[in-house]
Amino acid sequence: MEELLRRSEKLTTVGQLAAGVAHEIRNPLTTLRGFLQLQLQSKKLNTSHVSLMLSELDRINLIVGEFLILAKPQAIKFVTKDVRDVLQDVLLFLNSEAHLHNIVFRTVITEEECLISCEENQLKQVFINLLKNAIEAMPGGGSVHISIQRKGASIAISITDEGIGIPEEMISKIGDPFFTGKETGTGLGIMVSQRIINSHQGTLDIQSQVNVGTSVKVTLPGMKAEEEPVKLEA
Ligand code: ADP
Ligand code: MG
Repeated sequence: MEELLRRSEKLTTVGQLAAGVAHEIRNPLTTLRGFLQLQLQSKKLNTSHVSLMLSELDRINLIVGEFLILAKPQAIKFVTKDVRDVLQDVLLFLNSEAHLHNIVFRTVITEEECLISCEENQLKQVFINLLKNAIEAMPGGGSVHISIQRKGASIAISITDEGIGIPEEMISKIGDPFFTGKETGTGLGIMVSQRIINSHQGTLDIQSQVNVGTSVKVTLPGMKAEEEPVKLEA
């Protein structure tokens, strides 16, 4: 019974998501169609129409891209990784983008091993989504503080920006599919990240203050490091 309930809940969310995706993709498709039709009639290439069409195509690509990471069950493989390495890879990958926006990553990373069981690409996607939000929240540049700590059996990763923050009335809507406060946002980043972290038995928590900044804390269950073999006295 419980399983049935869980499955029907899952189906409803999948259905809602599918409806949302269809809707979000139909809008740019309608625009594309309209401009193509105009182009057909005018016989002369209108470059501003073409660039609009390209940006609509980019939008569709962005939306589909965010879903691909969730919709690849055959590629899902959990492996043992040190979160510090996973995060460092992502920081390296985003460094030039951060630099471009006058943003510096400041890290405080524990010396202790932080082994977890994870689907590496999905976990990277979570860090990318969160760091991108942090960058986008600071149009004038600033610092993003990133920390990794061991907290008993768990590992806590926090990403804190000094950006625009999130108004209180918006906070509960964040993570709803397609909820965005940005002109060109997809409103999928947090939803996708939440789902990935849930599938890792972790939690994702957002705290924010307008004009002060936002802090996102991800907690993941840690794995015990290989126990040292017991040394026998001679
Ligand atoms: P998107 O970034 O495409 O809008 P997300 O799901 O990543 O979608 O984020 C949803 C919304 O939450 C954002 O549009 C923004 O309004 C708010 N938000 C998320 N992270 C931050 C942050 N670090 N600072 C300020 N606002 C944020
Ligand atoms: Mg985002």
